[in-house]
Amino acid sequence: MESIWTLGSRGVAEHPSLSGEADADVAIVGAGITGLTAALPLAEAGFKVMVLEAGTVGSGVTGGSTGNLYATLASGQAPLRHKWGDEVAAEVVRARGEAVDHVEALVKRFSIDCQFQRQPAYRLVADERQHAGHDLNEELDALVSAGLEVEMTNAPGLPFDSWGLRIANQAQFNPLHYVQGLASALLGEGVVILQHSPVREIEAGKGRLRTDEGSVTAKHIVQATHTPKGISLVQAGMPVSREYAVSARLSSGEYPEGILWVLDPFHSLRSYRHGDDQYLMVIGEKHPTGEHRGDHYQLLREYLAARFDVEAFTHHWSAQQYTSPDGLPYIGRMHGHDNLYMATGFAADGLVWGTLAGMLIADQILERANPWQARFGARRITPGKSALQYAKENATVTKHMVKDYLGTEKLDSFDAIAPGQGRVATVEGEKLAIHRTEAGKLKVLSAVCPHMKCIVHWNASESTWDCPCHGSRFDTDGEVIEGPAYHPLARSGEKL
Ligand SMILES: Cc1cc2nc3c(=O)[nH]c(=O)nc-3n(C[C@H](O)[C@H](O)[C@H](O)COP(=O)(O)OP(=O)(O)OC[C@H]3O[C@@H](n4cnc5c(N)ncnc54)[C@H](O)[C@@H]3O)c2cc1C
Repeated sequence: MESIWTLGSRGVAEHPSLSGEADADVAIVGAGITGLTAALPLAEAGFKVMVLEAGTVGSGVTGGSTGNLYATLASGQAPLRHKWGDEVAAEVVRARGEAVDHVEALVKRFSIDCQFQRQPAYRLVADERQHAGHDLNEELDALVSAGLEVEMTNAPGLPFDSWGLRIANQAQFNPLHYVQGLASALLGEGVVILQHSPVREIEAGKGRLRTDEGSVTAKHIVQATHTPKGISLVQAGMPVSREYAVSARLSSGEYPEGILWVLDPFHSLRSYRHGDDQYLMVIGEKHPTGEHRGDHYQLLREYLAARFDVEAFTHHWSAQQYTSPDGLPYIGRMHGHDNLYMATGFAADGLVWGTLAGMLIADQILERANPWQARFGARRITPGKSALQYAKENATVTKHMVKDYLGTEKLDSFDAIAPGQGRVATVEGEKLAIHRTEAGKLKVLSAVCPHMKCIVHWNASESTWDCPCHGSRFDTDGEVIEGPAYHPLARSGEKL
């Protein structure tokens, strides 16, 4: 399931994979927007930088995002102001605005062909009934107080009645083409980018990380992996969700311009042009990872078809998000190790947070003062603003641990599993993740997530095994797709 951004994908020149031992000043794990943004200033300062990427450049959430860049948050400025007050809410907007400018500057500097353009963002309600539940006046006040240029308006080019707020001077781009362009520029700066190189272990104390074929020793290790790998304190308070996207071509009617957030309760719409073809996409159907509830793609197709004159659906894809307990991301040096850095808790706003994180982490390593370091630091503790979320997440993990360990069905025969299906079952006392391919072949894995021993769930939309506790995801061969797990699901019978 490839995202729309892969149309016209440029790829990045392959470097021979790592074998044996190597060293670097900075090893960056992950070639998404965070890792690549961090790599540039470090390489420019003369550091030897090595980026290790499990898949290919941008193949994580960056390449599955919506490509919207905005200074506020998709969840709204008013909730942020309510939680943190005027000063912090305005700081967030300033910091994020600087990050959007940074993207624009890099696009210009390296002539990255990624369709970057300034566009307004709209926060819209579609009828009076829905309006009752959304206080747009409060949101308007919060946006203006944070320094944004906002007005009440009707939406442009939408074929249904809607009105709401228009925030001027935000931006859109193709996020995959952007990071591919940035990676190519980094190769020119001497950065080594190793693709298809999953990191299996980080030994922060020794400043070393291992892949299947080799190891790298580095003075600084940056976990630009969307969520830190292995067991980390921050995971205990971060809900993990999946969200879905569908794109279509229209038979008639306008393709709407700008970033469009429709509060019904929440769908994000935007258009995209590739060559002579135009596309409209919708993003929504968010749910906790591992709690897959039906055909989310079909619901999005129905959403578009009910509102637009759809000629054909073209792409569908999904992506993951981690929401921090106090609403701000965790960026920078981790607890316990001065040479280990992370960037997480971006919710649905991480193209901008990731850019800011890359700038901030590079500044920390280069020992340059940065005004935002204290505000977004990964070592901050904010019990007053995050305790409730920690409690909720711990309850979720406990619920899944108890329910999934006690409640897994017993299976005497694999015949009940139809082609294309996956099921978790207890067989001879072992919790198994069993999948039958469309061709009828059985793939049997341990259902125990190697991260923290929760039981994975079958995700029928993606044909993956998803862990409901901290969001690790695995393909049907057990290989890690994303999340904190370092290691694949064990083959049945293998010791974990
Ligand atoms: C549906 C959806 C739409 C979104 N749309 C927007 C949007 O419009 N605007 C916005 O600002 N934000 C958006 N976001 C959020 C944003 O896309 C992400 O927060 C952001 O892309 C994260 O970037 P990253 O570089 O930190 O992570 P990623 O892009 O996920 O990069 C991390 C990389 O690390 C690699 N990796 C992981 N583990 C290992 C390992 N062990 N070894 C080596 N490599 C590893 C992965 O393969 C991956 O490439 C959206 C999120 C979702 C879910």
